[in-house]
Amino acid sequence: MIEVKHISKCFGQHEVLKDVSLSVAEGEVVCLIGPSGSGKSTVLRCINGLESYERGDIFIDGQRVDREGADIHRLRTRVGMVFQRFNLFPHRTVLENVTEGPVFVNGVPRDQARAQAMALLDKVGLAARCDAYPSQLSGGQQQRVAIARSLAMQPEAILFDEPTSALDPELVGEVLAVMRTLAADGMTMIVVTHEMGFAREVADRVCFLHSGSIVESGAAAQVLSEPQHARTQDFLRRVI
Ligand code: ATP
Ligand code: MG
Repeated sequence: MIEVKHISKCFGQHEVLKDVSLSVAEGEVVCLIGPSGSGKSTVLRCINGLESYERGDIFIDGQRVDREGADIHRLRTRVGMVFQRFNLFPHRTVLENVTEGPVFVNGVPRDQARAQAMALLDKVGLAARCDAYPSQLSGGQQQRVAIARSLAMQPEAILFDEPTSALDPELVGEVLAVMRTLAADGMTMIVVTHEMGFAREVADRVCFLHSGSIVESGAAAQVLSEPQHARTQDFLRRVI
């Protein structure tokens, strides 16, 4: 479903991704872990066409993604992204936030988009708050709206970049619960996270990134419980 093959990327002289390869099958959940600055967000941004790269190829369902981001609009509808900061439209209601993309990007009739949005808001437990504005919601609620908004585009996969790290600890669980449901429904997901419990429980595979290279990857239980590489061991000792 998502195949990243030997990509390398520089910011100026600094090579931030070095020959990164990663493949995610349909319905698979892969967690990407690693220290700050190791390149986790950059990997997601390359997959989603938000960042160009110098070498390598990315394929979504066998179709090669343009390295310079030429087909970015089509790509964004196929691969959703959920950020640490929820990035909701502040002057739009919850319902409007979820219908905007389908209506204006995909050309879905408004009535149909609203019905779909209500079903998605129900799924994330927020149908009752459909007329609220983002500022009236907690961080966890806003992030659940952001997930519903991403789902509304009917993506083939969703990339999550530290979706819970901006949240107060008591709000983390409700967002992880929604993500767990998506995984159980068979959504293809790449999740950058420091939530090792979630990774252990939900991820099919865990990849550990260090200084722009994937130094270790494998079954979640294996990488998290019996890391082979000294850098992985060192990282896990510090985060767990
Ligand atoms: P964090 O856990 O802090 O989010 P990360 O693993 O997501 O870190 P990236 O944001 O992918 O790391 O950054 C990887 C490297 O690329 C870092 O050294 C960072 O400073 C650098 N970098 C990221 N974006 C840019 C940019 N726009 N211009 C220059 N350097 C950048
Ligand atoms: Mg990051």
